[in-house]
Amino acid sequence: MFNSKEEFIQAFSEKLETELGMGVETATEHDAYRSLGALVKDHINKNWLQTNHQYESNQNKQVYYFSMEFLMGRLLGNNLLNMQLLSLVKEGLADLGFSLTSLEEQENDAGLGNGGLGRLAACFLDSLASLGLAGHGYGIRYKYGMFEQAIIDGYQVELPDRWLANEFVWEVRRPEQSLEVRFGGHVNSRVSSDGTLIFEHVDYEQVQAVPYDVPVVGYNNETVNTLRLWSAEASQEDTLKRASQQDGFGNFLTHKRSLEEMSEFLYPDDSHEAGRKLRLKQEYFLVSAGVQSAIRSFEHLNLPLSSFPEKVSLHINDTHPALVIPELMRVLIDEKGLGWEAAWTITQASVSYTNHTTLSEALETWPVDFVRTLLPRLHMVIEEINERFCQQLWGQDPGDFDRIAKLAIIADGQVKMAHLAIVGSHSVNGVAKLHTEILKTREMKNFYAVFPERFNNKTNGITHRRWLLHANKLLANHIKEAIGDRWISQPDQLRDLIGKKDDEAFLDQLGGIKQQKKRELASFIKDNYGIAVDTNSIFDVHIKRLHGYKRQLLNVLHIMYVYHELKSNPSFEMTPRTFIFAAKAAPSYHFAKKVIKLITRVAGVVNNDPAVNGQMKVVFLENYSVSLAERIIPATDISEQISTASKEASGTGNMKFMMNGALTLGTMDGANVEIHDLVGDKAIYTFGLSSEDVLSYGQNGGYSSREVYESDERVRRTLDQLVHYSPFSKGETEFRDLYDSLLAYNDEYFVVKDFANYVATQQRIGYDYQQKREWNAKSLLNIAHSGRFSSDRTIQEYAQDIWDIRPVRTLK
Ligand SMILES: *Cc1c(COP(=O)(O)O)cnc(C)c1O
Repeated sequence: MFNSKEEFIQAFSEKLETELGMGVETATEHDAYRSLGALVKDHINKNWLQTNHQYESNQNKQVYYFSMEFLMGRLLGNNLLNMQLLSLVKEGLADLGFSLTSLEEQENDAGLGNGGLGRLAACFLDSLASLGLAGHGYGIRYKYGMFEQAIIDGYQVELPDRWLANEFVWEVRRPEQSLEVRFGGHVNSRVSSDGTLIFEHVDYEQVQAVPYDVPVVGYNNETVNTLRLWSAEASQEDTLKRASQQDGFGNFLTHKRSLEEMSEFLYPDDSHEAGRKLRLKQEYFLVSAGVQSAIRSFEHLNLPLSSFPEKVSLHINDTHPALVIPELMRVLIDEKGLGWEAAWTITQASVSYTNHTTLSEALETWPVDFVRTLLPRLHMVIEEINERFCQQLWGQDPGDFDRIAKLAIIADGQVKMAHLAIVGSHSVNGVAKLHTEILKTREMKNFYAVFPERFNNKTNGITHRRWLLHANKLLANHIKEAIGDRWISQPDQLRDLIGKKDDEAFLDQLGGIKQQKKRELASFIKDNYGIAVDTNSIFDVHIKRLHGYKRQLLNVLHIMYVYHELKSNPSFEMTPRTFIFAAKAAPSYHFAKKVIKLITRVAGVVNNDPAVNGQMKVVFLENYSVSLAERIIPATDISEQISTASKEASGTGNMKFMMNGALTLGTMDGANVEIHDLVGDKAIYTFGLSSEDVLSYGQNGGYSSREVYESDERVRRTLDQLVHYSPFSKGETEFRDLYDSLLAYNDEYFVVKDFANYVATQQRIGYDYQQKREWNAKSLLNIAHSGRFSSDRTIQEYAQDIWDIRPVRTLK
């Protein structure tokens, strides 16, 4: 252990020697990173052990957050920050000739998630530990995480994410805690001597779930929780048995591979249901390992099973782990001998569910046949849950077949996972006020009528430790100088900054910090893409998954419009802009990939046209990830949050930008609405259809994109550039499908409808940006109100309203 720079240097040099057999002089940055990681982990271990002891001896209630995704990003810098070792280590390394920043960049992102949902899980873990709450993650240790994106010829190419290639320094394999997960086979039932029904699962396949534990370090509070990632392995016993059978080794290898597939790769779909059998296997693999592990820990307490809900909460991040409900029922009934009613009471009281979407294409369903063959016992349990629930509905309202058909868990040969999750849990939450309202009044209104007390809102949040303290040290220090550092443990106190809104020197410094971060991003762009961007231009940033509803297409159509104006209209004036994009498209999402091609095509035209280069540049940054986001967000002036109203449940990117002083250009959607409520009309740019407009068009029709196209000359001209001869189409049919989506298919996402409003709002932003001091005051207001969106606030609400847990020790 080390408590001073000198001790650090000593310990670091020793670690290099003992771990890698190397001296400081010969170590590469990668060697130095590995040995630093190992050293920091030693430091963490003591607190980790202590935290676990404390939880056990206090018998604290434990929360297990089940998520198919944890988008953790890099851990070194955040662990050092949370352990208060940052400056000590930085200075010690500098003495040895290493830069901490460069060592941090040696770490591969742990990209075990697609986007917002996975990043939310990661922010929640940070807040749980930092608040001293006993909450842990259960996930899958995918061998390949989110694919690495390369842009070749303007097209997205997916490369495997070999994040484990150089070992993951933070994990600890715990084979002694492995559990068995069973698939397939049959269920025999018989009546036991005392008259109870006994279910016996036979002829199954089994796979070992081996946990790899990753420490989750709290901020300055000695708490270390656990992210437990399960890896699928063939069991030793099974391996030996199969290898010795007649069909021998070849067969054994095939078998082993088919088992290990279960933790092989992350499904790279976002906002779209990935309906493949392997995905269902992955979901059950996580759920079964997690439920068994939670029960095993509970049993160490030697309490009756009826107190399980007082000691354990099982939270499911979207419906992907909804099989927690029938799995817990199975274990309680088949393995612990409880009756149905007792098991059901325990299950409902333990499980809570977060809904992340109302997009119908994202609502998860599984063919009953899949479930029956793959999970025969769970299939029986789900049928029974459904049966009893339908009877309950019938009891309330005999004869209303229609209502029962709508609410049933199993219908049309499909298991509806959201229905299972609502029926089997005690809490259902949406992720922003608007989203929860839409759930209650529209998408889930029939369920809301049956279980009104279950529905609640928990507006998402982000950890201000990663997204401000770590990603933007310059800004964090500036804030500390102005208002002290109370806001670090109580982010709401950022509001003290409002007192600085007329302090000209302070505002100018704030502008100066933004400029510095823009210069850093500009040199990254220059170094990696050879594009020179003007740091005095507006950095207008649209980074998130590529999806129709997120409307990157609206943004790029605006760029095409501006380009045309600059070229053809001598009186057209604009404030210089740098349009920055980053986004991954699901590999099978044709439309999204075409949008990437269009952005890169427009970038190629614009960036190579000297006639406009004083005024605009377009940059598409490859491989959007947590570490890239940390680089871009502090340098942003305008945060593009332009989803079709009602479609973005919350968004969390919007919060990261706000916290870093960007102004939002957004629709009244998701958490944008709450940002607007806080900062007021003047410090946000809102535009476009309201969610009621969109929902009502969806219900009643009445929208024709063709009408808008016919009547607005700018729309017509811009859209036509996609298919008529233009610098963008180059006379090819490349963008025909995009054009058709907007006209022939009547513009599902209301891009054409919102175009004029978007253009006008962008124009206004251009004017406003000229008034630097006022702009900086608006930026300040955004930072000052962003504490509301710290995930500490979100997690405190979950802790109080859903999980009923309290901090184990108070913050220092
Ligand atoms: C925050 C974040 C997201 C979510 O962004 P939205 O704009 O809310 O969709 C996705 N990916 C990464 C890497 C993030 O950091």
